[in-house]
Amino acid sequence: MEVKAKRVLVLGLARSGVAAARLLASHGATVTANDAKTEDELVAASAEPATNGATPAGRHAKSELDALREAGVLLSLGGHPESLFEHADLIVMSPGVPADLPALERARARGVEIISEPELAGRFLKGRMIGVTGSNGKTTTTTLVGELMRAAGADVIVGGNIGTPLSSLVDKSHDRTWTVAELSSFQLELIDTLRVHVAVVTNITPDHLDRHGTLENYVRAKHRIFRYQTSEDWAVLNACDPGVTGMVASLGVASRKVYFASKPPAETASVYLRDRQVFARPLDGAGDDVRVIGIDEIPLRGMHNVENVMTAVAATFCTLGGVGQIPALVRAIKTFKGVEHRIEFVADIQGVKFYNDSKATNVDSTIKSLEAFDGNLIVILGGKDKGSDYSVLAPLVESRVKHIILLGAASDKIAAQLEGVRPMIRASSMGEAVRRGVELAAAGDTILLAPACASFDMFDNYEHRGRVFKEEVRKLSAEC
Ligand code: ADP
Repeated sequence: MEVKAKRVLVLGLARSGVAAARLLASHGATVTANDAKTEDELVAASAEPATNGATPAGRHAKSELDALREAGVLLSLGGHPESLFEHADLIVMSPGVPADLPALERARARGVEIISEPELAGRFLKGRMIGVTGSNGKTTTTTLVGELMRAAGADVIVGGNIGTPLSSLVDKSHDRTWTVAELSSFQLELIDTLRVHVAVVTNITPDHLDRHGTLENYVRAKHRIFRYQTSEDWAVLNACDPGVTGMVASLGVASRKVYFASKPPAETASVYLRDRQVFARPLDGAGDDVRVIGIDEIPLRGMHNVENVMTAVAATFCTLGGVGQIPALVRAIKTFKGVEHRIEFVADIQGVKFYNDSKATNVDSTIKSLEAFDGNLIVILGGKDKGSDYSVLAPLVESRVKHIILLGAASDKIAAQLEGVRPMIRASSMGEAVRRGVELAAAGDTILLAPACASFDMFDNYEHRGRVFKEEVRKLSAEC
């Protein structure tokens, strides 16, 4: 992409905005980077939670801002002055910036190109891209695809919404590189040319309707991952997800479709389950189906993670052009540690196991989490309520949970909605929650942090909450 003569406005200085501004400046564009926050607020906000998929500015926000200045980027902080928009030829927008800024609307009406950071990066990245979108499982699947591709000997880089902006990876890409990118629906809404050679949709459930308005808009945003594909490319699709199959039926897909299916009927799927084993069908239809791995050999807990493995296997097969390299892929699956804060094993203290699923920030995730265990659970629930209905947890709580420990602002609501289902106690800190859990636990029990709530009542973000939980467990472990 030629940006030398261009005046580019980078809107939003979270991590992806910083990376976009750097990339543009290094290619000779005249870059202005703008954020509603002042410099002090930006630096203070570096530890704040991500909103709408935005990545936080990072701990080195101050030095990063200085580095931008040194690179010739003009910083405009503490508001969105109209004049910036009037002089821009191109606007690169971060997820955290309100899409309905009037100045943005006016720029759009004038025909100014408005794109997301992955679209910008895509114009510079060499090689090909595997993009992963969906309502749930994006980060786990993206990470797994990266691991499997690496195991298969591919030149691979991993980034996107997962934390490392694609713009910061451009220099690492070569003609033979596969970029594995987690792509949010917001980012996909603002792509214009981005060709995703292997496009993965994990599942589609109502999510972020605050931003997209209707489910139809949300589905359309996800569908954009296929927008610039050709018949040479691949679409990796969840055959068991009505949201995904409905999207394909109504909006169509131009590329070659590869389905994975964790439930019957599996006939049409290229990666499917039979007798608790994952099987793969050669994509070219030649040869017999091959066994990949047994469910019990997958080190991650929960059927949703089996699905994530199947998704990653299907995506990897597309790039390999077949079902070769299975032993290498199986080795990578067996050693995959999972992603931090997602049903993460923390410790076994005298027969009591501790798991951190701080990423279970909504009721659906907590359901997945409870389903991943057979029983004997002591579960820590609570945090900042998102208007959720916790009563839907009742059947699983009844069958798998011995005690509930309530923590944080939503405690009263959860207590009322799950009253009588299982005994409940309250804790005023994570340390107390862990200690009370241990008092209640017997050998063979599991203490699970799967809060079903956001973390912002007591913590900076879900990562912070998970780290505090792990720290408390470690303290306990040291005492024992
Ligand atoms: P995302 O990046 O889409 O938020 P993650 O991989 O971070 O997804 O997983 C977040 C949570 O979503 C997990 O803790 C789990 O509860 C749930 N989850 C993960 N994979 C799936 C899946 N394939 N289907 C449904 N839920 C899932």
